[in-house]
Amino acid sequence: IGFVENVDKEVGEAMEAELARQRRNLELIASENIVSPAVMAAMGSVLTNKYAEGYSGKRYYGGCQCVDVVEDIAVERACKLFGAKYANVQPHSGAQANTAVYFALLKPGDTVMGMSLDAGGHLTHGSPVNLSGKYFNFVPYGVNDEGYIDYEALYKQANKCRPRLIVAGASAYPRAIDFEKLSEIAKAVGAYLMVDMAHIAGLVAAGCHQSPVPYADIVTTTTHKTLRGPRGGLILTNNEYIAKKINSAIFPGTQGGPLMHVIAAKAVCFGEALKPEFKAYGEQIVKNAQALAKGLLDRGFNLVSGGTDNHLMLVDLRPFHITGKEFEKKLDEVYITVNKNAIPNDPEKPFVTSGVRVGTAAVTTRGLVEEDMDVIAECMYLTATDFDNKADEIREKVNAICKKYPLYE
Ligand code: PLP
Repeated sequence: IGFVENVDKEVGEAMEAELARQRRNLELIASENIVSPAVMAAMGSVLTNKYAEGYSGKRYYGGCQCVDVVEDIAVERACKLFGAKYANVQPHSGAQANTAVYFALLKPGDTVMGMSLDAGGHLTHGSPVNLSGKYFNFVPYGVNDEGYIDYEALYKQANKCRPRLIVAGASAYPRAIDFEKLSEIAKAVGAYLMVDMAHIAGLVAAGCHQSPVPYADIVTTTTHKTLRGPRGGLILTNNEYIAKKINSAIFPGTQGGPLMHVIAAKAVCFGEALKPEFKAYGEQIVKNAQALAKGLLDRGFNLVSGGTDNHLMLVDLRPFHITGKEFEKKLDEVYITVNKNAIPNDPEKPFVTSGVRVGTAAVTTRGLVEEDMDVIAECMYLTATDFDNKADEIREKVNAICKKYPLYE
């Protein structure tokens, strides 16, 4: 950052301020993480200079021999990490990965089932404002009154609407997903099963969540959430025919030149995730989520579905008569970062919401353990109930934790 600051003061200062913010705040946004210096260095490298349209060994540009090595390593490690036969490491993002799957397997107007946004699904799973919802006939499925996917109801719905594709996976679903069951449902109705494991990819890599790879026809993910890599996407499959369709759907179907610097960072991230330490990391994410859930429940918060099996929880704030929007703002003022999030059947508007989503991937990278989660739960409780009197006290607690677990030092 110092280098950028010397050359471009305006941008450098904004970057410096962001580093200070990340050091000062407890990051509880469930989709964020803190990458290693090696992942970051790969991203900020000479590989950003290179055009490499096509795939390793079959490029549309000269001079690709070195980036071919990088992409080969990324593909090989992705396959090893997730036990898949084929990997495409070129998607620029999770949304691009999903779009490419739809482009590869569907025709405009085809029927697809995906989890609705208000039940925890992602925009790219058929939201009317997203390309997915505009180009395809998405039929949304939700969760039951307890906040769980109802597989029997999902089967009945699928049997009725006969989708060509069922999309599983979510952005705000705190429970384990049964991919084996979903694969049975998809087979029974003659649909492809796509699993978007973006949120839980790190937990899958660490063996802390059932892997979708043996069950789904196709698996997409981002690389920057629990997996702790650079911002980007990844597509996996065991089916050679689908793998070929996906490769052409990414390039030339929906993207141009791959981001080779990001692919290098993905390779480094996969290498890190293949180490035994990553298993311990995944286990600690889950232990921390359990501890935070307990701390919040003990203090009177409601959690959608009553708890969590993974790295995230959805906090229903109605017992404290505060909206998601207000709570997000107040927490930010005491240096805790979360995002407001709709809860199932939320009475508030999407920009206001009755909930916040909280995740433990980033704070676990920072080094926090179970006892720290109880302090965070206390800080959240005090913020919800007595912000005006306790803001300074809460900030002191947060500062103490952040000092105990320094970032990038
Ligand atoms: N899929 C899921 C389940 C997500 O949660 C997200 C991002 O939040 C995405 C896809 C999209 O990823 P990106 O922001 O990289 O496009």
